[in-house]
Amino acid sequence: MKTIGLIGGMSWESSLEYYRIINEAVKEKLGEPHSCRSILYSVDFAEFEKLRHEGEWEKLTGKMVAIAKILERAGAEILIICTNTMHKMADDVQQKIKIPLVHIADAAAEEIIKRNMHTVGLIGTRFTMEQDFYRRRLKENHGIDVIVPEERERDIVHTIIYKELIAGIIKEDSKDTFKEVIHNLKKKGAQGVILGCTEIPLLIKGEDCDIPVFDTTMLHARKAVELAL
Ligand code: GLU
Repeated sequence: MKTIGLIGGMSWESSLEYYRIINEAVKEKLGEPHSCRSILYSVDFAEFEKLRHEGEWEKLTGKMVAIAKILERAGAEILIICTNTMHKMADDVQQKIKIPLVHIADAAAEEIIKRNMHTVGLIGTRFTMEQDFYRRRLKENHGIDVIVPEERERDIVHTIIYKELIAGIIKEDSKDTFKEVIHNLKKKGAQGVILGCTEIPLLIKGEDCDIPVFDTTMLHARKAVELAL
């Protein structure tokens, strides 16, 4: 079994999920009492959130590269970044390390293609929905078309992520809002929806939605385990 390095803490609520999923997946594949060899570097989210909202992406890239190198030196053989948003600098990180970085959008794409879908909705932070690092990868590397919610809905989704989910706050009315946003994506032609923020699965599950959901936390963590084994 290879050792998985995780860059976590963005937020720690979702890193907890990653830790649970990788260990459960290893147990499922190898049986009790196996568990996942892993090294977690968990950041102080406040520092990252501040730089992000100030648009200091270069500084953030420097920090991400430095952490990836620490994990590599510590013995990680595979790297995962436990947030969709910070995949903005995934290529820069990959260029500076020798171990493979498992890209979260590729993990989602693999499942979308398996389900014979070609057009999906995407919900996540404004950065993920509006900048092109995520959507372009899905289109150029996998031929998947992406539909995002309209401006007003993007704003609501982003606010719920940062004001509630990252703080571990789960509200029924926010769940209803997300259901409506997903329903509207369906009306615009989405065959399924990518839960493109690693905290969203804390709020909403497949059974809540009227189209299939692609839970990036689950798919990403399980893909890393598949490669580790
Ligand atoms: N975990 C979130 C994501 O998957 C957002 C937190 C962050 O800003 O990194 O994008």
